[in-house]
Amino acid sequence: KAKNDGRATYAFYSQELTTCARQRVELIAALRQALEHGELRVHYQPIHDLRSGQMVSAEALVRWQHPERGLVLPDEFIPVAEENGLIGAIDLWVLEQACRQMRSWLEAGQTPGLVAVNISTRLFGRGGLDLQVADILARTGLDARHLELEITESAVMDDPDSARRQLQRLRDLGVRLAIDDFGTGHSSLQRLKSMPVDKLKIDRGFVAGLPADGKDVAIARSVIVLAHSLGLTVLAEGIEQSEQADFLRRNHCHLGQGYLFGRPQPAEELFRAAAVLPAKALAD
Ligand code: C2E
Ligand code: MG
Ligand code: MG
Ligand code: MG
Repeated sequence: KAKNDGRATYAFYSQELTTCARQRVELIAALRQALEHGELRVHYQPIHDLRSGQMVSAEALVRWQHPERGLVLPDEFIPVAEENGLIGAIDLWVLEQACRQMRSWLEAGQTPGLVAVNISTRLFGRGGLDLQVADILARTGLDARHLELEITESAVMDDPDSARRQLQRLRDLGVRLAIDDFGTGHSSLQRLKSMPVDKLKIDRGFVAGLPADGKDVAIARSVIVLAHSLGLTVLAEGIEQSEQADFLRRNHCHLGQGYLFGRPQPAEELFRAAAVLPAKALAD
């Protein structure tokens, strides 16, 4: 009986896997089309200075406006795009949109003065990113100091020597650099100290338990102190409650991002939301 069960389970899984593989192939084809047919969108999430309450930057986050399924979030297609290599084209598309958007915000005299764009490990590891970024900046007419690139910890730590050179070339353009999801990868402090970056983004996994969870408190405090000691700006992701913002501000975390301040939203809605949120978010 057990044997039969085992076989049945195996058959079930193998069918599942086939379906999965086929779905993945279809997803890749659909995603490629989405890119060509203009179904991708860029939403912007505000980032606030925790002291002044001012919105200081915005992170560009990709979405897929699917004709039947509606708005699809990146977790559903970024991993597949990473595997298949399509991620490079997506990232460069998002980068160009974000640079255009930043330029038109500046022309309209609106803050934020900085837009942050996610760069996948794969695109970063390919090399030549500095040339592609320089090209997009030239094409969109955006000054490099208004652009920040978010690179994950693993992209930076896996091949540190080549990462350091790549980061330095990007920095020479005048672009700012942030390490995203800090604390979730395998960071080495030795390597971190030699990386030419400007900012650490504390992953929201460590922010969730603030201020009650003693371990999250210890980790958040340590990362903030580490960032200050290395002369880096520190940002906390995923702030949903004012208690979290209060704790982080009291512990000298510079910047905050999360639903408390605003969700990722279309560019034209960013300022409407920002105008009303800081006072509430910063009630002491
Ligand atoms: P990330 O770069 O760490 O971006 C922050 C994610 O946290 C976003 O999810 C954002 O919506 C979410 N978030 C922000 N505040 C809160 C909060 O208060 N509570 C909760 N529960 N979540 C919050 P999103 O937009 O679904 O993106 C997920 C991930 O997909 C991003 O994480 C990033 O790794 C990746 N991604 C998004 N856009 C791009 C892109 O253009 N290129 C690449 N390579 N990756 C991207
Ligand atoms: Mg990010
Ligand atoms: Mg992040
Ligand atoms: Mg994250």
